[in-house]
Amino acid sequence: MSHNATVVRAEASGLGAPRRATPERSADVAVVGAGPAGAAAAIHLARCGRKVVVVDRARFPRDKCCGDGLTSLALRHLDHLGLDPAAVASWTPLDGVRIRIPAGVEHRFELPAGPGIYAAVARRMDLDAAVVELARIAGAEVIEGTAVNAAEVLPDGRVQLGLSDGSVLSAWYAVGADGMWSPLRKLLGAGPAGYLGDWHAARQYFRRTGCEARQMWVWFEGDMLPGYAWSFPLPGGAVNVGFGIHRRAEVPTGSMKALWADFLSRPHVARVLGPYAEADGPLKAWPIPTRIGTSPLVAGGGRVLFVGDAARAGDTMTGEGIAQALETGQLAAAAIVSAGAGAPAVAGRRYRLTVAGGLLADDLLARGFSRVMAHAKGANGWLPIAIKTAFGRREFAPWMFEHYPRALPATPYRWRRGILAEPGAFAASASRPLH
Ligand SMILES: Cc1cc2nc3c(=O)[nH]c(=O)nc-3n(C[C@H](O)[C@H](O)[C@H](O)COP(=O)(O)OP(=O)(O)OC[C@H]3O[C@@H](n4cnc5c(N)ncnc54)[C@H](O)[C@@H]3O)c2cc1C
Repeated sequence: MSHNATVVRAEASGLGAPRRATPERSADVAVVGAGPAGAAAAIHLARCGRKVVVVDRARFPRDKCCGDGLTSLALRHLDHLGLDPAAVASWTPLDGVRIRIPAGVEHRFELPAGPGIYAAVARRMDLDAAVVELARIAGAEVIEGTAVNAAEVLPDGRVQLGLSDGSVLSAWYAVGADGMWSPLRKLLGAGPAGYLGDWHAARQYFRRTGCEARQMWVWFEGDMLPGYAWSFPLPGGAVNVGFGIHRRAEVPTGSMKALWADFLSRPHVARVLGPYAEADGPLKAWPIPTRIGTSPLVAGGGRVLFVGDAARAGDTMTGEGIAQALETGQLAAAAIVSAGAGAPAVAGRRYRLTVAGGLLADDLLARGFSRVMAHAKGANGWLPIAIKTAFGRREFAPWMFEHYPRALPATPYRWRRGILAEPGAFAASASRPLH
């Protein structure tokens, strides 16, 4: 792959007209979006010696509407990428989750005692900036405050991106990590048009919360099924509270504000937040794209690979997407590295195959569970079953938080000895190789 330096190309803008300078950069891979998906791709590519330019329209640290919850799988990816939790100011490890079903029954499921951690909460403002910094340290060039607003696959195979500062970036591959609305997907006409997301979710920060809010809460409310609400603890008495509903569910997304006010007044929620809780910022809403594989993962004959929310990688059952963003970012990067600059069709095929092997079975299972959770009978029925046996009480939280693949029994090729008892993330960062 080429390692061209930044060049300035003089463009004629008409006969006899003055010549206009169009700054032009080139790279092996251009990554559009520096959220978890784009940053993970950039880290992997840069560590494999590829020249990577990442472009994000935001400046970091930037907020992202999110529950800020990190599953065991997300933590393992962050550990693998080399994140130091100490670099994330709001890092809050957790040891269990308290769940309430619509019938009013509550139960706390414990996560393994260690070594390592199995769940955490971290404000996206802090987390994403730390992961972008890892991409820089790995050698990627990160251009902030600049949007991609034009895209084309040239006849010679290069992907050419127009940036909002008037410059042009061309690369052998582009990774579309530009989130739910993926402008790159639209610019390339890589459809489907009019997609609005499968979940609609909202969150609000609160401060001065009570001691019950020091643990992680998940509430299955009868009027949100198969969605749910949460309260995730942050340092200094702060929490991230929010809810997600399916777009096709009973609650019209237009009435989310009214539902939110009603939800906060429910006694079991008010009890957890405590009498002194006060809002710290507005309620923010954003869609969550899920059901990976139902939008093209690849465009331009393999020159453009979509990852994270741009690939609809979010978990269909829980709406979580950070782990899936980190995973698809690295899978796309690995496919590009192994195929090389001249074999985009191979890169595209490898990416599709590894996504199918790594994420599709879990998502299909999640779609099935979602259908069960859509009805009060299902939402009330699973918890008594889960807590009936010691195995259920012990394994539910690790299974739910993807300490191991949820569809493991259906995909024996992912089985390895001791997989259920592996340590959590960050147990041995110092001695573990990165790749
Ligand atoms: C309310 C809510 C709660 C959630 N809670 C959780 C949770 O607790 N845990 C969890 O794992 N997941 C959660 N999710 C899902 C999670 O937020 C996403 O799945 C995750 O952020 C996807 O990461 P990404 O890198 O694909 O996209 P993003 O994080 O959205 O990053 C995309 C980046 O692309 C940039 N961009 C966009 N357009 C352009 C352009 N034209 N040019 C350049 N850059 C561009 C953006 O500025 C942004 O930085 C939640 C989502 C919502 C809405």
